Amino acid sequence: MIQTVFMRNGKKKSDYRRIKNVIILVAFVLLGIYYFYLRFQEQQSAQQGSVSSQKVIPYQLAGENGEVRYDANGNLIDTSNFLISVKSSDEVLPKGFSFADLPLFRGQAVITVNNNSPFFTAEEIALAKQGSFEYYGEMDSRGRCTVAFDCLGKETMPVKGQKRGSISSIHPTGWKQARYDCVDSETVMTRAHLAGYMLSAENANPNNLITGTRYMNAEAMLPYEESTADYLDHHPYNHVLYRVTPCFRGSDLMAEGILMEAMSVEDLGSSHQYCVFVYNVQPGLSFKYASGASTYTGIFYDVTSGTVVTDDLDLKTYGMDFSSNTIHTESCSKYTALPPSDKGSFYGDTAMKSQWPSLGCRLCSCMK
Ligand SMILES: [Zn+2]
Repeated sequence: MIQTVFMRNGKKKSDYRRIKNVIILVAFVLLGIYYFYLRFQEQQSAQQGSVSSQKVIPYQLAGENGEVRYDANGNLIDTSNFLISVKSSDEVLPKGFSFADLPLFRGQAVITVNNNSPFFTAEEIALAKQGSFEYYGEMDSRGRCTVAFDCLGKETMPVKGQKRGSISSIHPTGWKQARYDCVDSETVMTRAHLAGYMLSAENANPNNLITGTRYMNAEAMLPYEESTADYLDHHPYNHVLYRVTPCFRGSDLMAEGILMEAMSVEDLGSSHQYCVFVYNVQPGLSFKYASGASTYTGIFYDVTSGTVVTDDLDLKTYGMDFSSNTIHTESCSKYTALPPSDKGSFYGDTAMKSQWPSLGCRLCSCMK
């Protein structure tokens, strides 16, 4: 009896052990399932996150050229599903901005647009509030860059001392290099970053480099890029929504200029904001934007003020009708009758007169 009881007790004990083991095993399996369920949920919400981000962006915003996007915690987000194609660079111009209505270059290299207020939409600003990102638009069907659209922060900028890589392998559309004595370093064409290296740490990203004159790249754009870098240096936890859109007329290969928009995200632009158009010009030269070909004109503007400056050439004052790009003698009645807004003047090197029509200027019969 006693033995049996013992045996039965022993049996009971081993049953208990078996049940306990099974319970532990089941608990582990359940925990495992729960863990994978959580991971799955995470993945689902991450995917939903990028899908909704894709919705608020009105155009293609990626490429395979190192574009990165960070979430609010500073983690990289895969942007590969942002790829859609762009037929023409016109498609990416911000809503509300009309390149066609912009005045032609009249001597001043930078003009403010839309009262210096960027065209960012509420959706774009909402996206920027989620954290920094960098998007570089896919090239259009003519191989032209379309847009750089970044939410900049200290995390997108190069680390102090990080050296800029070589970009000489890139040949953007309109790349017709030429040398002139009147250009610093003599070569006129440069590879102009849409989003500057100091802001984006982007090097040889072909979607971010256009053919820009040395003047536009090294002088006209620079103060704006530096002011944005300076803002981020002084506000290391803030961000700047930043977009640079090259503007091509028709099927031109060289951009006539770029629209630069910047807005501090955290205070909606009250401490840092601009919206400017920078003309792709070089004092003393004119360009055929269709191809990027350049010619020395002998016409020098002080591109900051828009006034004409002389160099040591034998220059003569002419009248310019800006409404039709027609050059007159100053005494021509067609010129004197123009409204002041269409009237301009410059010193032209008379020896170059025959070349002006090839640059898109017309010569009035009074010039013959
Ligand atoms: Zn005339």
